[in-house]
Amino acid sequence: MRESPYPMIPVETAITIILQHVRPLSPVTVGFMEALGLVLAEDVYASEAMPPFAASAVDGYAVIAADTSPMRRIIGAQPAGSMGMLAVTPGNAVHVMTGAPIPAGADAVVMVEHASEENGYVRLHVQPAVGDNIRPAGQDIAVGQLVLSRGTLLGAAEIGLLATVGRTRVNVHPRPRVAVLPTGDELVDPKDQPKPGQIRDANRYSLLSAVREAGGQPLDWGRVPDRAEAVQEALESAVRQADAVLTSGGVSMGELDLVKPYLAKRGTVHFGRVRARPGKPVTFATVEGVPVFAMPGFPVSALVSFEVYVRPALLKMAGHTYVHRPRQRVILEHTIRHEPDRTEFQRAIVTRRADGHYTARTTGYQGSGRLLSMVGANALLVLPAEQETFPAGSELEAWLIAPVREEETPANS
Ligand code: AMP
Ligand code: MG
Repeated sequence: MRESPYPMIPVETAITIILQHVRPLSPVTVGFMEALGLVLAEDVYASEAMPPFAASAVDGYAVIAADTSPMRRIIGAQPAGSMGMLAVTPGNAVHVMTGAPIPAGADAVVMVEHASEENGYVRLHVQPAVGDNIRPAGQDIAVGQLVLSRGTLLGAAEIGLLATVGRTRVNVHPRPRVAVLPTGDELVDPKDQPKPGQIRDANRYSLLSAVREAGGQPLDWGRVPDRAEAVQEALESAVRQADAVLTSGGVSMGELDLVKPYLAKRGTVHFGRVRARPGKPVTFATVEGVPVFAMPGFPVSALVSFEVYVRPALLKMAGHTYVHRPRQRVILEHTIRHEPDRTEFQRAIVTRRADGHYTARTTGYQGSGRLLSMVGANALLVLPAEQETFPAGSELEAWLIAPVREEETPANS
């Protein structure tokens, strides 16, 4: 029997090794609307205050709080968008719109709901206090304030802040460009009818999609035949042009499993086997500093391995501080048995019950070829090695790969 020369290492060790060998990509400058979903690579300060002037928070009347006149003459209106020349003096008021600059002399605004207008005069129904309904200059952002720090993931609110402070170009970590190369002589295009012995290539498309979902830029490197020169040529060009390389197939112990031997010859294989199911032959290498992730060919093995090993690496390359999926203790809805020789990642549906407990059930038969076991799954349920049976009601850890399902309360209850 042939034995793999690679020791079988624990999953957590494999993840640690990968994260030690990948670095955040060098920052690039982009227009702020291209920065959504990217990680900021600089600190952003405000050069102006927000609001830039004392502004009214409501539609109302700008007045002097200490003024005791029962009726005040409305000397004009101050809309938002310009600085007016009006000045409030005792006995007078200025009609102001939300966002309008506070007229000179005024120190409070009374909202229209608390006042009534008669013949060009306004009667207040409340006694205003100094500062009422006025947003002082700099209330939200002070001049020179740090508004976004390096490492922040840019979402809608952050893009809005960049707009507010006038930063239309920002330094961010780029999306890692990941070359995807499935290997296998048996593979044909999805649009083609496989001949006897052939199957349609699923991994090319699932892995390209997984890279995109993880915030990377997938590069379709095409399918690679099981020939040493073809594997070499594809890997060489990918390593030269991409930030990371992702292969599928060809990492087992067969004669035509050419990926591992090539990586060993050309770079450093950091590990070649993990004590995990699916995905035992997962391989991680660096070739001239470029990380190469070699996934097994079985479609579920490829995608689960991507999730466990590649996604955290791509997030780190994209500059993220937090690269792991949230982990949740869950209660098994049914008994599970597994082969206790390796840690197993079963695809599961986690539900938050009305009582606040999280429960999990698997998605049926867990074969590494059965992509259907991933459909609808929102978690990888971690079955530790050494234990064979996990009875219903046991507590296990789940890695959440999609939002937890909420237990539905009947709409008519
Ligand atoms: P391998 O890791 O190359 O030995 O492949 C293991 C199994 O996964 C074989 O049954 C392959 O036919 C299948 N397989 C490999 N690559 C793909 C692919 N891109 N799409 C679908 N199935 C694949
Ligand atoms: Mg193969």
